[in-house]
Amino acid sequence: MRQLLGAVFTLVFLAGCASSPVPTEVRTYTPPPGPPQVSAPSAAQGSFQPNAYLRSCGGIYVTNAPPMDDDFWVVDYKPIIVVGQVVMATAPANDVCLSSGFGIRSTRRHDGIDLQSIPAGPIYSAAPGRVLEARVSTGYGNMVMIDHGGGVYTRYAHLAHITDGIRPGVEVGFGQQIGMMGRSGNATAIHLHFEILTGNYNNPRGSKGLNPRNPFEFPAYEPGS
Ligand SMILES: [Zn+2]
Repeated sequence: MRQLLGAVFTLVFLAGCASSPVPTEVRTYTPPPGPPQVSAPSAAQGSFQPNAYLRSCGGIYVTNAPPMDDDFWVVDYKPIIVVGQVVMATAPANDVCLSSGFGIRSTRRHDGIDLQSIPAGPIYSAAPGRVLEARVSTGYGNMVMIDHGGGVYTRYAHLAHITDGIRPGVEVGFGQQIGMMGRSGNATAIHLHFEILTGNYNNPRGSKGLNPRNPFEFPAYEPGS
């Protein structure tokens, strides 16, 4: 069992991007053991409070949106999902709304989801893992990529800056701050571009050889399962 996540802890789920009153929910869970190849994270969990619900930004239709109700809340939104053996947050920032979903967008595939908060806030590691990449890329701007073990990876792009100490090889915990939401690289607005990727990074194409996955298609984490 992971040192940091071994203890039961409570996440207070707050709704994000809410212009109307929404329920608040408190949920307690014990994450399952993490993947064996990633050792215990050393940093404390930050102030990450995952959205309990997710709505489109501005309450309007957004590109590649998953099924939404009449008020543009994502139907059956799962704040904590299971990707392979990894329990992770679907939206790794506080009080965010969805500005674009996953999939083909005009002629290009959108390999992640776009999340916004106003004001721009901290970006957190969606699950425990080890930093693989923390660098500037022309398209992604300030970008962090994390290896969660078991062939599961996440990417965080367009950051305003990367948090001090976040560099390749560093272990991060669930909800540890890794950067700040921004618009670096090829971005037209301040937002987080978040990708979940599966496969084997140690292939000739590196992260380009991984499979981008739709965060909305994974099962919810069930406490006690
Ligand atoms: Zn994006």
